[in-house]
Amino acid sequence: MTPPRVLTIAGSDSGGGAGIQADLRTMFACGVHGCVALTAATVQNSLGVTGVHEIPADVVAAQIVSVVSDIGVQAAKTGMLASAAIIEAITPALDSVGIGRGRVPFVVDPVSASMHGDQLLADSALDALKGLLFPRATLVTPNLDEVRLITGIAVKDRAGQRDAAVALHELGPEWVLVKGGHMWDDPECLDLLYDGRDFVELPGPRYDTTHTHGSGDTLASSISSALARGASVPEAVRFGKDFIVRSVAAAYPLGSGDGPVSPFW
Ligand code: PLP
Repeated sequence: MTPPRVLTIAGSDSGGGAGIQADLRTMFACGVHGCVALTAATVQNSLGVTGVHEIPADVVAAQIVSVVSDIGVQAAKTGMLASAAIIEAITPALDSVGIGRGRVPFVVDPVSASMHGDQLLADSALDALKGLLFPRATLVTPNLDEVRLITGIAVKDRAGQRDAAVALHELGPEWVLVKGGHMWDDPECLDLLYDGRDFVELPGPRYDTTHTHGSGDTLASSISSALARGASVPEAVRFGKDFIVRSVAAAYPLGSGDGPVSPFW
């Protein structure tokens, strides 16, 4: 039987740890069929990114239309979007195929840099991300570095995490998940879900490991997979939280740098 389909609009990691490679692994593990609109090829290994080669923006948009018009998708997510030109090109494509809040669930993971600090989104693309994709998002999933870039709020504690959720929600997404993993002195990883009315706290353990490459992609992909299978946003986020905790626990060393989380345990 044909499983639910999920589209990832994201970049390739040649080291196989993050990006579309993490997305497709996760989707396979979650029982959905993953489709890809590739945005960029990165030259990357466990030590970092040494090159970024963007796909032409009209080709990214064409991949979305091609996939949805034939295969159909029940959820979509974004990862590395690279440039304003790509965001501007995919916006009308998403609208034309019915991806976005109120229609096919759309998870926007506002990837801006790798864990090594390599830039994955041009500074000039932030306004397009906020102005075009946030209002169309069912859910946005920033980490605290991305929160600071997007809202200017430097979150230091759980009160700041709530302020950031409110500021992010004002940019137009239906739901906001402010990930707490980068609050390094907090013994827990508390993620905060907000829909403009209620806060839902999702606590989780913090593991003492540097092998967390691809963790954001894995979380957003597992949430998207659950949405494609018909879960509500709170149900999908709880599923994703459990999924990423297990995936970090199963992470493995790779190369001489930092290894990836694993969706197989
Ligand atoms: N490379 C690509 C293509 C990505 O999409 C991402 C994250 O989305 C990364 C690298 C960075 O992953 P991490 O911050 O987990 O190292």
